[in-house]
Amino acid sequence: MTERSQPQPRSISIFGSTGSIGCNTLDVIDHLGGSEAFRIRALTGKGNTDLLARQAIAFGAEIAVTADENRYGALKSALAGSGIEAAAGSAALVEAAERDVDWCMAGIVGMAGLAPTLAAANRGADIALANKECLVSAGELFHRGIETGGGRLLPVDSEHNAIHQVFDTNQRHSVERIILTASGGPFRALSAAEMASVTPDMAAAHPNWSMGTKISIDSASMFNKALEMIEAMHLFDMHPDQIEVVIHPQSVVHSMVGYSDGSVLAQLGAPDMRTAIGYSLTYPERPDLPVERLDFAALARLDFEAPDEERFPSLALARRAMNSGGLSGAVLNGAKEVALEAFIDGEIGFLEMADIVATVMDRIGTGGGAVSIDAVYEADSTARILARELVSGRSARSLAT
Ligand code: NDP
Ligand code: MG
Repeated sequence: MTERSQPQPRSISIFGSTGSIGCNTLDVIDHLGGSEAFRIRALTGKGNTDLLARQAIAFGAEIAVTADENRYGALKSALAGSGIEAAAGSAALVEAAERDVDWCMAGIVGMAGLAPTLAAANRGADIALANKECLVSAGELFHRGIETGGGRLLPVDSEHNAIHQVFDTNQRHSVERIILTASGGPFRALSAAEMASVTPDMAAAHPNWSMGTKISIDSASMFNKALEMIEAMHLFDMHPDQIEVVIHPQSVVHSMVGYSDGSVLAQLGAPDMRTAIGYSLTYPERPDLPVERLDFAALARLDFEAPDEERFPSLALARRAMNSGGLSGAVLNGAKEVALEAFIDGEIGFLEMADIVATVMDRIGTGGGAVSIDAVYEADSTARILARELVSGRSARSLAT
């Protein structure tokens, strides 16, 4: 008689476990049985090595990796006696991503997430994609990586997760449009003159969602929506003209798909990333999660309005990048990351972020052509260098006045 083998727990890794997406992912995993139900292989972070070590110990991870080589000693000593491996640096992140897992959360912020996420995709893991920069900068390559590896691509960004939930792939020919909702951020009602003097703290105070600082500020400038338009084009293979944006201040309708018969299907829920994360973790099953249930009587109303592309030029920049294709997304994103950091560091004003991205896009030709990983990194780096020069020029001018 042969013994019945026990089903193996699903193996997972979380890249960016110390961030907002990462912590929410671990919270979902905890609710769904923690280390009894899942085998946690790699957890990663950067500066917050104390939290990373605590997470690794609590969830019995095999390895904890910090992206910052200078934090290796701190991580190693925080893990002393636990038997958990410690590693540091960007090569270590990629090595961790090459470990065989069933499911991998891509929750690193920014372009730094591309290399490990591509490695995990090539290795064949299902990719729960929060890091939108992967698709914005290297959409085609990323799809190729997923195809090579044979895993599934499961969108976590709330809008794209919503679309995934209501996009009828059997009726793809009758999908007319995708309608991304946007809260409008904290400055929805401010004039351009008022926006010129806002501080990073004001910009990071998102009205509905609790997220990392960078994405919160990107929501205030609507660069987050700009990235999401490009992300949606790649994820759902849409023409740029099929992607619309509507302001919906309550953030309850997470996005919609419009069909050729006039029907519009929407996904609604409380603004809580755990729904999208849980959906991507147990897809196609739906998990039981302790998120707030919508009370429609209490909500009373849902508002929608057209975005103002004059005050939020990031949306037009996204359309430009989508129409040009090729490396335009990498250029837009690289310039945006530099401008965002310069705004956070007080070097430039809020409105100057879009000016810098527009100038970088004007100056760097980004036409079509085959896109290789080297070309993506080169476009990203050229955009960053130019954006940095523009930031320095502006800072020097403002010091002189
Ligand atoms: P956070 O800033 O909260 O977390 C970022 C994570 O990435 C942390 O673990 C951080 O480590 C790590 N990290 C930072 N810089 C690097 C680097 N250079 N190399 C490797 N790791 C790094 O971001 P969020 O969780 O808000 O966002 C993560 C991604 O998910 C972003 O791409 C964002 O656009 C996307 N997203 C987020 C949503 C949200 O609700 N937060 C919603 C939809 C999409 P440490 O903190 O230890 O320094
Ligand atoms: Mg989003």
